[in-house]
This record gives sequence, C-alpha cells and structure tokens, in this order.
Amino acid sequence: MLKEMEEYARENRVPIMLPDGIDYLCNYIKEHNIKRILEIGSAIGYSAIRMALVNDDINIVTIEKDEVRYNEAVKNIHKFNLDDRITIILNDALNTNIDGEFDLIFIDASKGNNINFFKKYSVNLRSCGIIVTDNLFFHGLVKDESLIKTKNQRGIVRKIKEFITFLDNNTEFTTEYIAVGDGIAISRRK
Ligand code: SAH
Ligand code: MG
Repeated sequence: MLKEMEEYARENRVPIMLPDGIDYLCNYIKEHNIKRILEIGSAIGYSAIRMALVNDDINIVTIEKDEVRYNEAVKNIHKFNLDDRITIILNDALNTNIDGEFDLIFIDASKGNNINFFKKYSVNLRSCGIIVTDNLFFHGLVKDESLIKTKNQRGIVRKIKEFITFLDNNTEFTTEYIAVGDGIAISRRK
C-alpha cells in the first residue's frame, strides 16, 4: 500500500518526502521515543502514515489546505486503519488554531511560509521538543542558484535562505542541518 502511494505521488506530481529523508525522520522518532506529532502539509498522508507506523502509541495531527489532496489523504489513512491515530484537518495552516503540546512539529508545506509556521506553532511545542523542516535544499537550487529557471523558484530560494538566517540567528532554538532527502533542519530549544 505504501508503494501504491509512492506511485500515485509520482504520477500526480505530489512532492512527498524523499525515501532517505522519511527513513531518517522515522528513525529519529523511534530513537527519541516521540509520541505526539504535529505536521504542517499532509499532501496525500504519506509522511503521516509512515510516522504513525513507527509505533502504535504515536498520535499525529496533520493540516492540509488542498481539498483534493486532503480527500486522498483521508482515504489512505483509512486504508491503513489509522483513523484513530491520525487526525487530519482541512484548512490553511496559517489560520488554524491547534490546542495541545507536541514532541515534534514537522513543517513541510509552502516553503515561503516556513518562518510563519515556525513562529506560529512553536507555542505548541513541548519544552524539549523539536521542530523539523523539510526541503532546505529545494532540489539543489539553494546551493547552486545557476539551476534556477523561473521567477517563482527564485522567490522560493530567497525565502529558504531567509529561513536559514532566521534559524541561525534564533536565540531560542539551535538548529542542525541534515543532508538527507531534500535537506532537513532539526531545531531544538536551547
Ligand atoms: N508531508 C507530505 C508532503 C507535503 S507536500 C509528505 O511528505 O508525504 C506540501 C503540502 O502542503 C501540499 O499538499 C500543499 O497543499 C500543502 N500546503 C501548502 N501550504 C499550506 C498551508 N498554508 N496550509 C496547509 N497546507 C499547506
Ligand atoms: Mg517536503
């Protein structure tokens, strides 16, 4: 069933996490005994399902604003019988209010809003929790700007660089950058 989702993502150009990125994240969740996860950007539910499958006492809240992807995610979560452990919300995460505290917050939505998501949701992070952000490499375009082809890509690269500066200068969190998948940042409270 996971293979089917990967295939659907490829065919429909849904940018799910790259294999070594999601493997790394799942290992991290296992090793650090993470139980409560908030995800920004569910797409078709692939990463949420992978994280939930790490252990049967893991609970996830995930937010998706695109209705087509949301519906696909609901279907997939149901297929895996994870309805009671994955709560999916159809909404723009910039205007969603989430109660409760999480051990891990995974930011994987619109890349231009990383700073906003980080600031907005860090109040929902348990005192020694971590925030993981995906796609810091943006397919290599952040490192090698000569690969940039469109104005839209240039804007996203600029925003990702701003986000990296924001993390580097953050007085509350320290960040480690991991070169797996499309590049992930792991930010911990100091
Ligand atoms: N985490 C998923 C992939 C997410 S792709 C996985 O690895 O399986 C990014 C998703 O974020 C897209 O489906 C997009 O619709 C959604 N998104 C973008 N901006 C958003 C926002 N402001 N609020 C909620 N979802 C958003
Ligand atoms: Mg991603």
